Amino acid sequence: MKEKILLLISLQECDSQLVKLSAKKVKLPEKISKMEEKFQLYKESVEQNKRKHDELKARRAECEAKIKKINDGMVKTKEKLLEVKNNKEYQAMLKEIETAEKTRSDVESQIIVLLDEMDKLSGLVKKDEETLKQAEINHQAEKKIIEDDLSAVDEDTVTWTKKRADLQASIPADLLLQYEKVKKRNNGVGVIAVWKAVCSGCHMNIPQQLYNELQRSNELLSCPNCNRIMYFNNQEKSA
Ligand SMILES: [Zn+2]
Repeated sequence: MKEKILLLISLQECDSQLVKLSAKKVKLPEKISKMEEKFQLYKESVEQNKRKHDELKARRAECEAKIKKINDGMVKTKEKLLEVKNNKEYQAMLKEIETAEKTRSDVESQIIVLLDEMDKLSGLVKKDEETLKQAEINHQAEKKIIEDDLSAVDEDTVTWTKKRADLQASIPADLLLQYEKVKKRNNGVGVIAVWKAVCSGCHMNIPQQLYNELQRSNELLSCPNCNRIMYFNNQEKSA
C-alpha cells in the first residue's frame, strides 16, 4: 500500500489508542470507588451482630455502674444508720436500704440476661469475622487487578504518545492538517477502511468507480459522505 496512507493508518491507531487510554483513566478510578462503596455496604451488613454485641456490652457497663452507685449509697446509708436518734428515722432508713437492695437485684437480673444474649452472639460474631476476612482478601485482590490496569494506562499513554510524535514527524504538514481536520469532524477517526464498497466509518456505499480507483490509485481519496481518508482493506483476507 502507498506509504502516505500507511503512515496515516498508524497515526490513526495511535490516536484511537490514546482516546481509549484516556477513557480508561477516567473509568477505572470510578470502578474502584464503586467497588469500595459496595464492599463498605457489605461490611456493614456483616458487622450487624458485632454492633449488636457492642451495644449489649455498653448496656452491661451501664448496669455495672448502676450497681456501684447503689452499693456506694448503701454504705453511706448504713453509716448514717448508726447515728439515728429516733425509731421513725430508723424505719425510714431500713426502708431505703430495702428499696436499694431490690433495685440492685433487678439490675443484676438484667446483667444475667445481657450476658446470656452476648454469649449467643459471640459465636456468630466470630463466624462473621472469618467471613469478612476472606471477603476482604478477595476484595483487595480484585482491586489490585484494576489498580495494576490503571498504572499500565499511564505507561501505555507514554508509549503511544512517543510513537505518535515520531510518526507525526515523518508525515508532511499538509497531509497532517487534512487528517486532523477530518478527524476532528468525525469523532476522532480521520482514516477509515473500505471493504465491498462500504465505508466502515459512515457505513455508506462508495460509488463503484471511486471504489475501483481506491484499489488502484496512489492518490489519497476521501469518502464522499463522511469525508474521511479511505483505504482499501480486504477484510476476508485479514480475517
Ligand atoms: Zn464514510
